[in-house]
This record gives sequence, C-alpha cells and structure tokens, in this order.
Amino acid sequence: MNNKQLRDAAIEASKNAYSPYSKAQVGCALLTSDGSLFAGCNIENASYGGTICAERVAIMKAVSDKKMKLKKLYVYTKEGWPPCGLCRQVMSEFADSNLEVIIGDESGKETVMKFADLMPLSFTPDHLKI
Ligand code: ZN
Repeated sequence: MNNKQLRDAAIEASKNAYSPYSKAQVGCALLTSDGSLFAGCNIENASYGGTICAERVAIMKAVSDKKMKLKKLYVYTKEGWPPCGLCRQVMSEFADSNLEVIIGDESGKETVMKFADLMPLSFTPDHLKI
C-alpha cells in the first residue's frame, strides 16, 4: 500500500468526522504490519474530555481486531496538524520500531518521519518489564 492510497483513505475518513464543536475534520489511515488498513476520524463529545482523535480511533479499531503492530500512519487535516501528545503516547504502545508517520495537508504537502523522531524518549511497554 503506497502513501497515496493511505492519503486517500485518510481524506475519506476525515469526511466522517463528528466535530460539531471545533468543526475540525481529521482523518487517519493506519497500515498494520500484516498489511491491514484501518481508518478513523475525530469524534467529539459535549463533555470535551470524551473526545477522541482520529489517530486513536484508527488505532483502537486495529487493536480491537488484534492487529497490534503499527507500520505506517497517515494523518490528514486541511491544515496539516500533527498528532497530539495523547495520540503519540497511544502510538508508542503499539508502534513498530520503524513506524512511519505521515502528516498531510490539503495542498498535498506531506511531512514524513519515523515515530522515534515524532516522539523521542517515549514511554513504552518496555519500561514496565521488570
Ligand atoms: Zn490526538
């Protein structure tokens, strides 16, 4: 699966955003190590704290299907927003060591990086192996 296919899936997912408060439309397409594709959008909540980002929706969909290793993640917003800190922490739980993160915007600009560059010194399950 190439980046264009992931981008298209992320854009498509962003159209399903439930964001009556921020009006932001975020889409995430996630490729797992076995080649499965999962997509998610942001889902807001009147409590605000109950809001969940597109990245976490996609990750939870994958994990609930027992697809635990994230290989490539594409996040799309018109503005090219990067994943928030909470999403980065959730990514660190399931990230393959070579997880590639792509941030795309409406103009087609893409920022491509390894997860380790997006979140250096992340707290991972390895820290709890005593
Ligand atoms: Zn987030």
